[in-house]
Amino acid sequence: MNLGVILNRVFRINDNPLFHFINEHKEDIDQLAILIPIEDMSDVNKVKQQYYYDVAGSFIEELKQYNIQPFIIPYNKLEELCYNLELTHVLMAKDIMSYNKEENDYPHISAKLKQQKIKIISRRVNHYLQPSVTFNKQHEPYKVFTSFYKANRDKIVKKPTYNYKLNDISSLCVKGENKTEITFSSDKDLEQQSIKAWQAFLKNDIGYYASNRDDVAQAYVSGMSIDLAYGLLDITMVMNDLLDDYPNDEENYEAYIRELMFREFYYVLMTQFPETAHQSFNEKYRKLNWSYSKANFKAWTEGKTGFPLVDAAMRKLNRTGHMHNRLRMVVSQFLTKDLFIDWTWGEAYFKKYLIDYDNASNVHGWQWSASTGTDAVPYFRMFNPSTQGERFDKNAYFIKEELPIFDDVPAKYIHHPMSYVERLKKDYEIELGKDYPKELVDHKASRDYVMTKFKNVGK
Ligand SMILES: Cc1cc2nc3c(=O)[nH]c(=O)nc-3n(C[C@H](O)[C@H](O)[C@H](O)COP(=O)(O)OP(=O)(O)OC[C@H]3O[C@@H](n4cnc5c(N)ncnc54)[C@H](O)[C@@H]3O)c2cc1C
Repeated sequence: MNLGVILNRVFRINDNPLFHFINEHKEDIDQLAILIPIEDMSDVNKVKQQYYYDVAGSFIEELKQYNIQPFIIPYNKLEELCYNLELTHVLMAKDIMSYNKEENDYPHISAKLKQQKIKIISRRVNHYLQPSVTFNKQHEPYKVFTSFYKANRDKIVKKPTYNYKLNDISSLCVKGENKTEITFSSDKDLEQQSIKAWQAFLKNDIGYYASNRDDVAQAYVSGMSIDLAYGLLDITMVMNDLLDDYPNDEENYEAYIRELMFREFYYVLMTQFPETAHQSFNEKYRKLNWSYSKANFKAWTEGKTGFPLVDAAMRKLNRTGHMHNRLRMVVSQFLTKDLFIDWTWGEAYFKKYLIDYDNASNVHGWQWSASTGTDAVPYFRMFNPSTQGERFDKNAYFIKEELPIFDDVPAKYIHHPMSYVERLKKDYEIELGKDYPKELVDHKASRDYVMTKFKNVGK
């Protein structure tokens, strides 16, 4: 066969199931082309765009060490290239949920290539479970995380490592070239950095995971979502590492595996219900009359709502492309509940800014917050952004990082600025409405409004 292998977002030399496949089928391959189609990042935030170019560049540099020169092309030139190379087969990932554009995902690309009579060989590369066999006892999809987790937890078992040497594969490769206008170079080996960061997390931090992961001012979370979104780490190897040390600290290791199971749950769900990328999972709530207030949305995106935890979180996202899970829950609840703005607006904004953007986790994270998705608790779950600040950023250390205006202000004033208008002005020269916004909405009034909206939907 004349084989092309698509490696976008499987940016790893080690533990790569696509290399494993090539090695196993070496005898059948007449010619091999390594293809790295590049996503169009022109409409995303610059930090995210740069990270993508860096991570692709780092992988391309590493391939060169093995004498592999890939074809680097924009996604919209992929079909043409496959045609020109006279490929008979294309090997590709079928489970990547992180593409910046939907048209680059497996269903779209494989359909286009099949039209050219190219045979598609697909492998799961960045997820653990197989959606086509993940059903409950009634052979129906799981719709609630807890039952999914209980029923599938036993499937996480030690698995054999992959078996290949890249040097054995490189002799099959035709020499490619860079047909994009982007120069890919990197002096950092991001895959190695990622492996080291993962090992450091296991050594130093996982022991605090169950109790401290919600503290937004501390760094007891792993930061692995980026590595998983770009395929720098293999999920099977991650699970193997977790199982190795599991008996020494079941509580913390289980808490971590449970979060990874959330990622699997949303992946399985999105594969089984692809329409939920754009509409409510719960059909009843497709009729909600959301607000489309551009002014309120703008205030939220710019971190100018007058709720310090929300504002600090949004400013951090805009500046770095990162946001802690607790803060994602807080800001998404604020947008969809306090401002009652359509969750799809928030989802689209996160897509532009989050470096670790993953369609399934993002869409279903948003739907969870908006109460249109899989949350087992009904619509009356609504976070109070001030109380969330008191609980998860007790000393306001995180808020102060992003809102230096509050540097010298005690935490209790920061979490409830409207209760300390005079003190803030007199003692700290902070005038609400001038130096820092007044609260955009009254939380209690918003709560009453949103509860009525949900209760009366469709009536
Ligand atoms: C509104 C909203 C949007 C989100 N958008 C994304 C997204 O685009 N991409 C993304 O990877 N995650 C998303 N999440 C899930 C979660 O916030 C991130 O995975 C997590 O913050 C990543 O940081 P970490 O790797 O340090 O997490 P850790 O706490 O160290 O967790 C370990 C891993 O478990 C997985 N995980 C943890 N929590 C969740 C969760 N709630 N849902 C799914 N997987 C989880 C991630 O792969 C993560 O890397 C979103 C959550 C919400 C509420």
